[in-house]
Amino acid sequence: MSVSPVDLSSHEASLLASVPTGLLIGGQWRDASDGGTFDVHDPSNGEVLATLASATSADAVAALDAADAAQASWARTAPRERAEILRRAFDFVTERADDFALLMTLEMGKPLAEARGEVSYGAEFLRWFSEEAVRDYGRYLTTPEGKNKILVQHKPVGPCLLITPWNFPLAMATRKVAPAVAAGCTMVLKPAKLTPLTAQYFAQTMLDAGLPPGVLNVVSSSSASGVSGPLLADPRLRKVSFTGSTPVGRRLMADAAQNVLRTSMELGGNAPFIVFEDADLDKAVEGAMAAKMRNMGEACTAANRFLVHASVAAEFTARFAAVMGALVTGRGTEAATQVGPLIDASARDDVHALVSAAVDAGATALTGGKPVDGPGYFYPPTVLADVPNDAEILRQEIFGPVAPVTTFVDEADAIRLANASEYGLASYLYSKDFNRLLRVAEQIEFGMVGFNAGVISNAAAPFGGVKQSGLGREGGSEGIAEYSTTQYIGIADPYAA
Ligand code: NAD
Repeated sequence: MSVSPVDLSSHEASLLASVPTGLLIGGQWRDASDGGTFDVHDPSNGEVLATLASATSADAVAALDAADAAQASWARTAPRERAEILRRAFDFVTERADDFALLMTLEMGKPLAEARGEVSYGAEFLRWFSEEAVRDYGRYLTTPEGKNKILVQHKPVGPCLLITPWNFPLAMATRKVAPAVAAGCTMVLKPAKLTPLTAQYFAQTMLDAGLPPGVLNVVSSSSASGVSGPLLADPRLRKVSFTGSTPVGRRLMADAAQNVLRTSMELGGNAPFIVFEDADLDKAVEGAMAAKMRNMGEACTAANRFLVHASVAAEFTARFAAVMGALVTGRGTEAATQVGPLIDASARDDVHALVSAAVDAGATALTGGKPVDGPGYFYPPTVLADVPNDAEILRQEIFGPVAPVTTFVDEADAIRLANASEYGLASYLYSKDFNRLLRVAEQIEFGMVGFNAGVISNAAAPFGGVKQSGLGREGGSEGIAEYSTTQYIGIADPYAA
């Protein structure tokens, strides 16, 4: 690993030096077969943090060889043993929370306090699925005709390819690895090339917790399709679980169709944040901050469209803009920082292009709206008032600290606007009328709905979307089912002579 000589404190440098830089294949960290590497950067200043081995297609196949070789014995491992490995991993991640948080801040940019929040959230999947591992129930019943018997059991799907995005470097890995381990699957994990350091450190933590060689293999790479292509075509792979953008998800689903693979797809979102006229506006502003600004807006659950009843829109927007405008932007390692940089220059430029187009179409920036000069990829918290309903910014995932506000006239109008999207992941409703909240929840096409709550992610809840936000659920009791297959055994009448 090369560590940037400048700008890194000695603590940061020694932590970076402790992160494995190789590929994890069959329990060993090794170089890429062609010796190739790629650099990981700090988005707050563009400096190189580390240089990692870059997996080739041959390395990816070697990782699947290891996963395939480990699958049969791992499937037979006692559920309690799998549970205890996960529980130890939870303890280790918790003990190493400061290191995980700092690594995420360095490679992804989020403020340290938020990174610590992600460590708690991410670790929780390890604890939750350690508890689920021993609670996988089958069933035994008599056929309706009354003679034969039906036995239903769950089995691990088999070797899985897990592909994760850059925005939640720990939680997106634990949300897939933990249920796969609990269900008895082996796996090949491909982290995002922008933020692989946390996943590398997490994989070592899983080994420290006693995970046997070959169960978890990690192939960080500068060529995502070079890794996924040969694996999706290999009949030994049985499942792909992907979290990322909808366009990449579509391509992976098409590739996965060739071998009729099981797929879990956690894709993009375009969350509406609906404020009804009877909402508590203090709570709505607080929830809006959480739903918009978690991860600098770089979250699939980020509130992307603020739909506010026309009678309270001016007051809500003014209060929201005042709080947004007071946030402190800076490097995530600094104690005062509340908003870190975006992940790279193109992310920042894309956000600004959406803001500029909205302003050209008639919106007003009440705060922010102009890019911040470098170094680093900073964009100021921005609130846009009077955004026209057909503005591009209301259709696309913004993935930045920008809140477009638009208005509606009644409940039916709010529902129609909320559903006018090909996405259906998270949504947020603010009202004091519980019947209204339930009525609207029943009519909006979203996998997740927050009632007067700006943060809804939880390891015990089924996370996932409808429409083009994806297929399958992560977390909850549903999470382990994604890695299990159902086998039915038909038993002839045991009383028959
Ligand atoms: P992305 O689709 O660009 O990349 C996601 C992962 O896929 C990365 O590991 C990347 O290297 C890999 N990848 C890219 N092209 C690939 C290809 N052709 N073949 C195989 N793998 C490929 O997404 P991103 O920019 O890393 O993440 C942001 C997106 O992720 C947003 O759309 C966000 O909404 C979504 N996301 C969804 C959830 C969810 O749970 N629904 C959670 C977090 C992020």
